[in-house]
Amino acid sequence: MERTFETLKNEIKSCQKCDLCLTRKNTVFGDGIAKTKLLFVGEAPGQMEDEMGLPFVGRSGKLLDKMLAAVDISRTKNMFITNIVKCRPPNNADPTDTQRQACAEYLKQQIDLISPKVIVCVGRIAATSLINPDFRVTKDHGKIYKKGEIDFMGTFHPSALLRFPQNKEEAFKDFLTLKSFLAQLS
Ligand code: SF4
Repeated sequence: MERTFETLKNEIKSCQKCDLCLTRKNTVFGDGIAKTKLLFVGEAPGQMEDEMGLPFVGRSGKLLDKMLAAVDISRTKNMFITNIVKCRPPNNADPTDTQRQACAEYLKQQIDLISPKVIVCVGRIAATSLINPDFRVTKDHGKIYKKGEIDFMGTFHPSALLRFPQNKEEAFKDFLTLKSFLAQLS
């Protein structure tokens, strides 16, 4: 059977490849435009995301949406957003290496289906998983890393921006860089 967004979404819904299936309410596949140049990847669903089955819908997600809207990027227009793991780790713990590895194939398949030109890693877990295990957000955010056909950027997780609002300006500069970079690609 040809794999589509729908077949992959259904496969993930019934996934039991790691222990997070035992505590999730909903799997969180992702949200946005299925064919787009721009993919955002966070670390894992939180409580609201687990309840609603959608990524980045809590306070931090709203902040991210607002900052992106200011540079004309939105999930209804020109981006897709998902996470490294599709089920919520209890107590919002960092997903373990075992959980990340168990879920990695799903993200790979999403990347194959979406064919993004740029992947933005939102926060440390996504950036250390996809860009470089030594990635440090405060030092390396906003830089472009070419890996094969895809360019990667890491930036602050919006929940970190809620805790440390002094970093919002730097995060917004990353999105301005992203916007200019995307304009060069078209
Ligand atoms: S986190 Fe990923 S691998 Fe683990 S149960 Fe959920 S969908 Fe499956």
